[in-house]
Amino acid sequence: METEEKSLKKAVLWEPDKDKKVRCKLCSHRCVIDERKVGRCNVRKNIDGVLYSLTYDKVCSANPDPIEKKPLFHFQPGTRSFSIATMGCNFQCDFCQNWQISQAAIENGQIDGEPITPEQIVEAAVRNGCKSIAYTYTEPTVFMELCNDCGRLAKEKGLKNIFVSNGYQTIEAIDFAKDWLDGINVDLKAFSEDYYKRLCKARLQPVLDTIRYIANQTNIWLEITTLLVPGENDSDDELKKIAEFIVTKANPDVPWHISRFYPQYKYLDSVPTPLESLERAYDIGRAAGLHYVYLGNVPGAKSENTFCYKCGRTLIERMGYKILANHIKKSCCPDCNTKIAGFEL
Ligand code: SF4
Repeated sequence: METEEKSLKKAVLWEPDKDKKVRCKLCSHRCVIDERKVGRCNVRKNIDGVLYSLTYDKVCSANPDPIEKKPLFHFQPGTRSFSIATMGCNFQCDFCQNWQISQAAIENGQIDGEPITPEQIVEAAVRNGCKSIAYTYTEPTVFMELCNDCGRLAKEKGLKNIFVSNGYQTIEAIDFAKDWLDGINVDLKAFSEDYYKRLCKARLQPVLDTIRYIANQTNIWLEITTLLVPGENDSDDELKKIAEFIVTKANPDVPWHISRFYPQYKYLDSVPTPLESLERAYDIGRAAGLHYVYLGNVPGAKSENTFCYKCGRTLIERMGYKILANHIKKSCCPDCNTKIAGFEL
């Protein structure tokens, strides 16, 4: 083993295969990796029959963000979440909004970052008055080793841990994280295999399996985001399928964030999502029975607010990522006493 590689962090969730190959069990690509090769994410390498993380000590982003930016609207609203990332991803979305840090490792093996320890991350979170640590900007699943060490430490210090994820982790990975993972926002990007294959180089079904599992078999707080891309995933039929899936296979209390798309990265020949499409999606979500539907990237829209799904009372007033007022009393609507789902509302 070469000197540089001696300091690498041994990966979690893999098993040896024949001829010094390894099988990674972290995400649903389930790569079988030859000796001296990397997996599809390009940040996990087989060295002498052992899988290592190439990003454990390379933090490329660290910021105290409003938790509303993740977005999580029903989890410690109005607090800040110390948000970290390393480079890399297991998806290759043509419209990625963070492509500079998510795709560089895949495209040219670029892995930049600082050796910030879990202790330093937790200490920075506390110093910045954050109530949680968010593993975000890129896909946290592919830097699970850092999430795990940091998450356990954060928990000891009374902080919560949240993922902002594409939902492609395996059930084994969720089980691995569920002792310290408190909340997650999963992208449900579309409801067609063709969309996932063509635009993300991935599959839909594992994402659906993840959502079902988290909603029904864990205590992890779940919210879902769909980026509405004009002409790709914004038909009435597809939006109805997404909303009905959340209602029937997860829970009507799971907040659904419908986010406005702006042309990015390789997907430039499109207009931003028209406001009418977002409003149509909002209505479809509510008609399907979802209790909480939100429009994202539309600052000032009324649909950023939380309303009581029973009596319609405005409960949390928002302006972008800012909370203007929170009228929820003991997790209930102050007018009709309906329970409002969430964590530390
Ligand atoms: S995390 Fe996913 S893409 Fe990366 S090596 Fe493991 S199975 Fe492959």
